[in-house]
Formats: sequence, C-alpha cells, structure tokens
Amino acid sequence: MPSTHAVAGLIARLHDPQYARWASQIRRTGGCRQPIHLRGHVSHLDPATGQRLHTYSTATEPDGILRVPCKTRRASRCPACAETYRADTYQLIRAGLVGGKGVPDSVTAHPCLFVTLTAPSFGTVHTRQEKNGTVLPCHARRDAATCPHGRVMSCTARHGSDEGCLGEPLCPDCYDYAGSVLFNAMSPELWRRLTEALRRRVAKLAGLTLRELREQAVISFAKVAEYQRRGVVHFHAVIRLDGPDGPASPPPAWATADALADAVRHAASAVAVTVPAAGDDPARVLRWGAQLDIREITMTGDLTEQAVAAYIAKYATKAAECVGTLDRRINPLDDLEAFNLRDHPRRLITECLRLGALDELADLRLVQWAHMLGFRGHFSTKSRRYSTTLGTLRAARTEHMRGEAITTGRLPLFDEDTVLVISHWEYAGQGHSAGDALLVSALTGNRLVDPGGRHES
Ligand SMILES: [Zn+2]
Ligand SMILES: [Zn+2]
Ligand SMILES: [Zn+2]
Repeated sequence: MPSTHAVAGLIARLHDPQYARWASQIRRTGGCRQPIHLRGHVSHLDPATGQRLHTYSTATEPDGILRVPCKTRRASRCPACAETYRADTYQLIRAGLVGGKGVPDSVTAHPCLFVTLTAPSFGTVHTRQEKNGTVLPCHARRDAATCPHGRVMSCTARHGSDEGCLGEPLCPDCYDYAGSVLFNAMSPELWRRLTEALRRRVAKLAGLTLRELREQAVISFAKVAEYQRRGVVHFHAVIRLDGPDGPASPPPAWATADALADAVRHAASAVAVTVPAAGDDPARVLRWGAQLDIREITMTGDLTEQAVAAYIAKYATKAAECVGTLDRRINPLDDLEAFNLRDHPRRLITECLRLGALDELADLRLVQWAHMLGFRGHFSTKSRRYSTTLGTLRAARTEHMRGEAITTGRLPLFDEDTVLVISHWEYAGQGHSAGDALLVSALTGNRLVDPGGRHES
C-alpha cells in the first residue's frame, strides 16, 4: 500500500508543468529502477570564431537533473537495465558462435565446445533428480552411516523443485563451509590456470611450442559463473579454437573438436590452487570437481548455438541472491539474524566473515564479498578475440539514442569534428523519490521500485 507521502509526490509530479519532459527522461532510461542523476552542461562552439552554436544545460530539466540508466547487470536491482545487459550478452555470445557483429560466418566451422566446470563436493546435500519423468529419492542409502553429530546420512524424500532444503547439507555441522567459500574465492584463479594449461596441452598435442602455437591458432573463451543451490559457483564456458588471427582465420588442420575436448579434460584435472594455512585452518589444495561436462556446439546437433547463447545470457544477470543470500554488501557489524536468512546461506556468510578476518587470507577480501559467498569474479567474461564487446554494442546504442535526441531537439545536428564540445557533468544522486517510484512503475509496468534505492555495486 503506497504511503500518503508517496501519493502526494505522485500527484505533485503529474501537476508539474514539466511533466512531459520528466516522462520523456524516464522513457529514455528504459524504465531504469535506480537512474543516476547528472547535473551539468554541454556547449558546442565554432572553433574558428568561438561563437556559441548550441548550449544544453540540465538547469532547464525537471529537478535540474538529467536521469541516465544505472546499467547494472543484476536483475534483483534493476530489471530494465539487467534485461539490456542480458540481451547484449546474448548477441555477444551468439556472434562468437555463428558470426555477425563483425565476426564472419565461417566461424561456425571452427572447433567449438560448451563446457561446464563444477566445484567439488563439500558434503552431502539434498538434491532433486528426475529419471524418465519420475522424481528419485534424495539420498536413499540402505546402510547409511550416522555422522559424529548423530545424523543419519540418508534422505528418502522425493523433493519438490522449489523446496528450500535443496542444496542444503544433510548435516550442517559436517559440511565444509570453509572449503565452499574458499573455492568461490579461488575459482577465478583456477579458471585462469585452466586456460593456461589448456594452451600448453593443445600445443603439446600438436607437437608445438607455445610460441609456435600462437602462430597457428588462438583459443578463445566466453564464460559465465552460475551459483548452484549449495552456494558454490560453477562455470559454463564456450571454448573455441581459431586460426592465428582469431575468428576470421581458419584453424589449422590438426585442430578438431575431439582434440580440443581431450585437452580441456586434461587441463581441468591437472590444475590446482593452494590456499595458505591461516589461524587454525590448515593449508588446502582446491581443484575442479570431478563432474565435467563437455559438449560440441554444432549448428544441427542437440546443442545449438542459440541454446548456448540463451543459457549464458540468462546466468549473466543472476547472482548469489538465487541461493538465498543478500544482494548487497554485508557489514561485519550487521546482525545477520535480522536478515531472516536460511541457516545454510547464513553459515556461508558467517564463514566468509570469519576467514576474512585472518591476515593470511586478507587478499581474498572475503568480508567485502561475503554477500557473494566469497566469489569476487566477474559473472561473464570473454577473451579479447571471442567476438564483439559489450562496449561496442553500447556505443552503437548510444549513437542510436543520440540520433533520437537530435530528432527530438535535444542535441544540435553538428559534425562532432567541426565543433568544439565543452561539457561538464557531476553526479547528483541516484534513484527515485517515493512519488516518482509509484509513477514509474505505473508508466513502465515494472514492479514497484525501491524509493530512493541506492546501492553499491
Ligand atoms: Zn537501471
Ligand atoms: Zn533430501
Ligand atoms: Zn554431522
């Protein structure tokens, strides 16, 4: 139920003589839930005479500010901007698989794999598995052992797909919470080592040195991190082998999908990272889990380029909130009880705060990334040669919006090279007032926005 304050704000906005201008700003942000406010001005001068050709200032805009989209990729913060990010990611992944956006179509003939790398087990968790349309019992064990905490390591329930216990340990006291958050923290390094090991392995298979390999082939990657219900990340990656100049050059004859798959399998089992001993916690070596899924991406097979691009794009806008943690940073002084979390994510967060306080592990910044359960990597990353970039896609859109701004009289139609552009911008806040938030949700059909919602990213 909106507050009377919010309703009063909404009515005031509707009666504002500048309402039309405000509504056009909101449309231009694409219904962003937490737009950034800019204050400033742009002047276009004739460089020869110094004559002022056109001036734009936010002083004449409603509230004296220009609202621009927040550009978050997180759907829990801003559905509109996250959708833009998802669509861009889809285009980017797809271009690397079938061509387009500057990548030639011939890329479809290059060896290309869809690889899922998982985390190892940190204890038995409740799961749901289906076989031929029937849900199987979770962990039915005829001679199940009893753990030191007196819990029988068996669960015969056939869990529903939305049950809160999925991904939660059979015995939380046996579960290796330190291992789980340390794996998340080290996974970007583990991924980096995998890509290096893969290049070395491919070179070896081809009988080449690393330098000789670079003259014949480039291996490109695009990956996303996904949280499993148990709270560890796993990675989905597109791995493609091109000729020496990237997607436009044909791969050498020895490069087949099978050879690439062999090399991935070898590299994934070979790499490890060591976490130093800290406090009472011994040093530990972390590796990828035994579950490794490698499939060839083909135009005609059961794993199509479209399915892969859609899958990767979907996970690019999701974060740890899917496992029931928070979508914002946690202060070590926060009362975790007050957040009403389930026991499992609360324990994972608590473990991040505990390990994060140890000097030996300071580099992992586990306190800052406790809300991400230790993971501080990027959700979607790609190597330089994979396809186009998000920046290029954004620039194309900005150019489009600029065109629109010109036709709607916001910007003058000058050739940028022949005029001098002087601009000054400053940050003036973020979000909507309670009244504006009501109006924006009515105008855009989005869920009600968090008034004045300010978040760190
Ligand atoms: Zn936004
Ligand atoms: Zn169960
Ligand atoms: Zn136990």
